[in-house]
Amino acid sequence: MPNPPSGTATPGRVRVRFAPSPTGFLHVGGARTALFNWLFARRHGGTFVLRIEDTDQERSTEESVRTILEGLGWLGIDWDEGPFFQSRNVQAHRALALRLLEERKAYYCFCSAAELEARRAAAEKAGSAWKYDRLCVNLSPEEARRRLQGGEPAAVRFLVPEGTVAWDDLVHGPTSFDSAVLEDIVLLRSNGSPTYNLSCVSDDVAMRVTHVIRGDDHISNTPKQILLYRAAGLEPPRFAHLPLILGPDKKRLSKRHGAVSVTEYRDKGYLPEAMFNFLALLGWSPGEGREKMTRDEMIAAFRLEDINKKGSVFDEQKLEWLNSQYINDLAPERIVALVRPQLEAAGLLSADIEEGGARRAWFLKVITTLKARSKRLPDFVRDARPFLTDDFEYSEDAVKRYLGTDGNRMRALRAAFETVEPFTEEATEKALRALAESRGDKAADYIHPLRVALVGTAVSPGVFTILILIGKERALRRIDRLIAFLDSRATAT
Ligand code: GLU
Repeated sequence: MPNPPSGTATPGRVRVRFAPSPTGFLHVGGARTALFNWLFARRHGGTFVLRIEDTDQERSTEESVRTILEGLGWLGIDWDEGPFFQSRNVQAHRALALRLLEERKAYYCFCSAAELEARRAAAEKAGSAWKYDRLCVNLSPEEARRRLQGGEPAAVRFLVPEGTVAWDDLVHGPTSFDSAVLEDIVLLRSNGSPTYNLSCVSDDVAMRVTHVIRGDDHISNTPKQILLYRAAGLEPPRFAHLPLILGPDKKRLSKRHGAVSVTEYRDKGYLPEAMFNFLALLGWSPGEGREKMTRDEMIAAFRLEDINKKGSVFDEQKLEWLNSQYINDLAPERIVALVRPQLEAAGLLSADIEEGGARRAWFLKVITTLKARSKRLPDFVRDARPFLTDDFEYSEDAVKRYLGTDGNRMRALRAAFETVEPFTEEATEKALRALAESRGDKAADYIHPLRVALVGTAVSPGVFTILILIGKERALRRIDRLIAFLDSRATAT
């Protein structure tokens, strides 16, 4: 894919980029960075550029590029330009370094890795902090040329000027570094390959990036990059550094805390719209306690000034909550389409519940009934099971909480239900309550075991709703099964 034409910028138009290194999956932190760039671009009618920073030949993989694009696609984060591959721009990166060399803003450094390491170790031993000691800074251009021609490898280092580097960070406010803390950064390694800071600045200039929105972990690169802009006589973009994403223990989110890749969340049964909404709230506060928002609402409300300065905790329970809200908004047909592969894998799919099938309308009712209690898509497969097959177990928890060893109540309930006609929610509920009252029991003494009989669990949607969905004949058989189970427990004790 060709790189963007330069020199066609509309002045003032926002241009942002997401610049992942394709060395692994799409981390939720990376996805959040992409999302904030996307929201900012959409908010300002700007352009969102995707740049794959694949200059690290050893660690970059095509598989990683694929998963990054897949993750962004799943979240609905679309880009206007790209994906551009940074490795194709190496000539331009080198040209910038050579220009700085010519202008004596950079210099050749012949110190080998071993020499640098020895001097670093010596400095450390003497108790002083090490930064490159500028041994090569005063080599004359002639001397440098002679050594290069003699085949000596050399890196190109940027001559960091003295002074303060300051910028008005769009998240953190005024930020400054004394350049004395920076060492003369390597622009080109001795094998000629450009380093991250050089490539990043060169590409951001070529792509006319107006705002660099990226993680806090890059804050220490920003003064270096600003100095490179200045040295090249260019106006730096604005910078916004996003707070870290933390685990529940307030430590930087990592694999230790569980899933960290976007596709893992997809596979766990989260909806992309819920994940999108959740990621947007990781560090951004739209105000007025707003949480569930549509994409358009988020675009309209998004302001970099409202991003928190402090890290934000990745709270999977909140994600689950949001997901359940989004699930509740879905039409049952859409839910069935989403869970169909899992239903099939569980052996629960049959022609009569497929589109056009005899029990399709009934199945959509089952899904609608299950919706309110479902947090993630696999919940549907688990909870639809007793509606689709008689082959289900009683959960341990339900048995412990609600089942004794006396089958008499269930026998009485079975007898009462048998005569209920038509078998409706109202009529069955009336019959159950009347029975309980006549026997001096509480309705709950019947409702809980009935639920276990019908679906095997301690909790479910309204028991009379599921009773009708399961239907009289099957319900009576299930009550029989429970009676047999209770009787067998009675004989066992
Ligand atoms: N490739 C860098 C990363 O993945 C991008 C840094 C930047 O946005 O400038 O962290």
